[in-house]
Amino acid sequence: MDSSSDFLVIGSGIAGLSAALKLSELGTVALVTKKAAADSATNYAQGGIAAVVGENDSLESHVADTLRTGGGLCREGVVRSVVADGPARVKELIELGVRFSESRRRLDLGLEGGHSHRRVLHAGDFTGKEIERALVQSLRAHPSVRLIENHVAVDLLLDDSPAKIPAGENRCRGAYVLDAASGEVRVLRARATVLACGGAGKVYLYTSNPDIATGDGMAMAYRAGVPLANLEFVQFHPTCFYDPGVREEQGRRFLLSEALRGEGGVLVRRDGTRIMEGVHPLKDLAPRDVVARAIDAELKRTGAECAYLDMTARPRDFLEKRFPNIFAHCLGAGVDLSKDPIPVVPAAHFFCGGVDVDGDGATALPGLYAIGETAHTGLHGANRLASNSLLEGVVFAERVRRRIGRDWERVRGDALPAADPWRPAPSSAKQESVYILQDWDEIRRLVWNFVGIVRNERRLSSALERMRIVRREVMEVYRDYPMSRDLVELRNISLLAELLIASASSRKESRGLHYNTDHPEPREAERRDTLVVPRVDCGCSRAA
Ligand SMILES: Cc1cc2nc3c(=O)[nH]c(=O)nc-3n(C[C@H](O)[C@H](O)[C@H](O)COP(=O)(O)OP(=O)(O)OC[C@H]3O[C@@H](n4cnc5c(N)ncnc54)[C@H](O)[C@@H]3O)c2cc1C
Repeated sequence: MDSSSDFLVIGSGIAGLSAALKLSELGTVALVTKKAAADSATNYAQGGIAAVVGENDSLESHVADTLRTGGGLCREGVVRSVVADGPARVKELIELGVRFSESRRRLDLGLEGGHSHRRVLHAGDFTGKEIERALVQSLRAHPSVRLIENHVAVDLLLDDSPAKIPAGENRCRGAYVLDAASGEVRVLRARATVLACGGAGKVYLYTSNPDIATGDGMAMAYRAGVPLANLEFVQFHPTCFYDPGVREEQGRRFLLSEALRGEGGVLVRRDGTRIMEGVHPLKDLAPRDVVARAIDAELKRTGAECAYLDMTARPRDFLEKRFPNIFAHCLGAGVDLSKDPIPVVPAAHFFCGGVDVDGDGATALPGLYAIGETAHTGLHGANRLASNSLLEGVVFAERVRRRIGRDWERVRGDALPAADPWRPAPSSAKQESVYILQDWDEIRRLVWNFVGIVRNERRLSSALERMRIVRREVMEVYRDYPMSRDLVELRNISLLAELLIASASSRKESRGLHYNTDHPEPREAERRDTLVVPRVDCGCSRAA
């Protein structure tokens, strides 16, 4: 089946939903999402969205905090403009119906690590869920937006093969999309396509991310000839709930927001002594990479299974009111925040890198935009300031609308060329799930063990060697078996894993989130973005 609309948006987190609503002001929108609309990282965000709305705060201070955390790799112009747009975008969210928490009739602003002021708007500790609720509700009611759930984008639809012409001379015309229920691959054509597929936390064995985070947007862009940037900068959240019962193949860990430390939580050892004492002047509110490394070093040194986050200095009624989600989750697991220190471990949380875009979210491929966690905009540099990612998603949704809007009257009537049909798998062999499970597990364990919080040259080179072998096998499975969501995701995480390892191997220094014990210091000569530029054999499409 072939259908067309003015715009195709892939992904229904804060970035995709916001972009779809904005673009509907210009024309018709198809919004494709691979599970139900609310299945997104956005839905799990607890802490909130950073914006300068407090009386004693300033844009300059938010800019300075972002640049300092970014370890010398932020694009300063992007930082300044995103921070400046923040208050207007947050106001729009409120007008759309997002109910942020208030205290004495004013917005209640949270404090998180790396921020020098209280500037994090939140809805209790359900912030993402509340944003997602309001956006999905507006979108479902919108006559120009068609929400297509349970459909997985597989590859982008291009004028020509990326093996034949450079990205700049090619054009994106939509995507091939798998109907997860029927197994049929459809063609969705569009004048502009926006990738808003979120991050790639599932490349790691342990992650705070939901199952959808398999780097599909980054992988699709790369296969279409678009470079990816700074993949080595993966943020590990220092405090995820340690539950020895969590199954490894599932691997999602419940997040304990940084806002807990903003409200007085301290990291301690089993004997109650403080971990961050003497590690960093900001102690428990040091940037995430510093805290995650301190916990990792502590666990490796002592052999302990976890560290502890102690909130017992705060009264029960405060904790229950301020952190209802976290309080209930921990209590369900037998931990009372007001009496017991919470067992914690770090887990992969956020990709600072992604599809390289300009200040408007445009990629090197005409007709293709990337926003949200899928994109590398230069806002985060080598490390993300807490609560800046929801902000980035909503700000870049508006930028894309503005950019497309500039030329819209001129191009809106252009005909959309016919698309090549999808070529089904050559054999009708029934899929053998055992291959998918084996490769899935091997990749995620390899990346966790060898490209984790602390890296070194030897681990990186063994990881690359092994990953190349696994990827060859994945590509054979992909070519031979019928299409399924699992197969699409396996193909994508295998590509992302290889590119992540290659990026990490190419950076011969330690900076921000990339810490290599063989090169423990930052080097001025290495202060540049790592670009992975597509090869022509990066995982062929099945378009005929
Ligand atoms: C537990 C947790 C807590 C967090 N807390 C905060 C916080 O407090 N503040 C903050 O700023 N950031 C936070 N973050 C990070 C932030 O939530 C994400 O970076 C942000 O929500 C990403 O938004 P997005 O729209 O880019 O992607 P997502 O919200 O992840 O949405 C991606 C969408 O793309 C869809 N998709 C993916 N691949 C395909 C495909 N092939 N075909 C079709 N659809 C596809 C998914 O189904 C999903 O709908 C948190 C992240 C996690 C995991």
